[in-house]
Amino acid sequence: MSKFLVANYKMNGDKKFFRSINSFNKIKLKDTKLILCPPFVYLNLVKAKHFSLGAQDVSAFCDNKSTGEISAEMLKDYGVKYVIIGHSERRARGETDKLIQSKIKLAFNNGITPIVCVGEKNYNSKIEEILNQVESALVTDSEIIFAYEPVWAIGTGKLPTINKINKAVDLIKTTAKQHNRDCKVLYGGSVNKSNYKQLLTCEIDGFLVGGLSLKLNEFLDVLKGIEE
Ligand code: PEP
Repeated sequence: MSKFLVANYKMNGDKKFFRSINSFNKIKLKDTKLILCPPFVYLNLVKAKHFSLGAQDVSAFCDNKSTGEISAEMLKDYGVKYVIIGHSERRARGETDKLIQSKIKLAFNNGITPIVCVGEKNYNSKIEEILNQVESALVTDSEIIFAYEPVWAIGTGKLPTINKINKAVDLIKTTAKQHNRDCKVLYGGSVNKSNYKQLLTCEIDGFLVGGLSLKLNEFLDVLKGIEE
């Protein structure tokens, strides 16, 4: 079954780095959907031919008084096909489910597929903690991708058990079905060259990666490994 690999570069990299990732166009991917999400200012340096361009956020507003924001229409204009919405780093700085809903709707209206991040805060939190985040993201009829990203696993080197990831995937897919929706579920949080094979035994549709995306050779190894 085909898998996704989504690179979230966060606020990292420079012009040289983002020009260099165009070399991913040379890879003939058999069955993997590769999505690269640079910071807004570097979107125009990344020429997506054999991968897709993604953004790390989108404005929740559609008006002429949103200084400093980037609209879904602008992302569409740049050829952006996917957008990460509700990353825990943004939720931690005050992004609410209401804002996230608005971003999801505006993305859909512009033909951009949202990748909505959900995840429990603490290692000991019950998986049901993500239910509100999932339900409130199901605001439209279109295709949606969830990234299950336990907040405590992001950038820490810690991983949930396979059992916990499978429980999260099941909860997300069951909730989506109850709303007559199909969805894909990715896993994100400390994925690396040494653990991705084990993680691929989970019921996931691929990965959203942060730190790994900055190590180009390791990222490439993982990409090739997913393809095998
Ligand atoms: C992320 O920030 O979405 C993420 C998955 O980061 P990392 O892979 O570095 O844990």
